[in-house]
Amino acid sequence: MKDKDCIFCKLANGEIPTSTLYEDEDFRVILDANPASKGHALILPKEHYANLYELDDRVAEKVLVLAKKMITRLTGLLGCDGYNIVQNNGEAAGQTVFHFHMHLIPRYKDDGVGLGWKMRELTEEDKEDILSRI
Ligand code: 5GP
Ligand code: ZN
Repeated sequence: MKDKDCIFCKLANGEIPTSTLYEDEDFRVILDANPASKGHALILPKEHYANLYELDDRVAEKVLVLAKKMITRLTGLLGCDGYNIVQNNGEAAGQTVFHFHMHLIPRYKDDGVGLGWKMRELTEEDKEDILSRI
């Protein structure tokens, strides 16, 4: 299903022209309009799913295979030194467009791209709490 008010539905389905790196029956891979680094791309499914929670299993199975294919090809093409795969779900996690997408962010040695988080110590309390719920 498509969402008529969703910008990524329009981009994924070619209703709005965009820089396309790859396309097949399920996905379009485009350049991010506000790249974290040169070559930052987004994998967009052509159907509308708000996030990973909603993503169809069949599409979910394919998306990581596509990510692998894209970064393998793009690493040689861009001459980058590594890749971050980022996928945000929910506002609290930094999601701003509510159509599932996967960021492919090329990394170049000393590029200064700030994707890190401050590491804490795993507490006994948190560990016990989580393990008791699972
Ligand atoms: P999020 O924060 O939801 O994980 O990421 C949304 C991403 O979509 C951002 O990196 C933003 O730059 C990108 N973006 C938002 N609108 C457009 C657009 O119209 N075209 C393209 N190519 N990228 C977009
Ligand atoms: Zn959509």
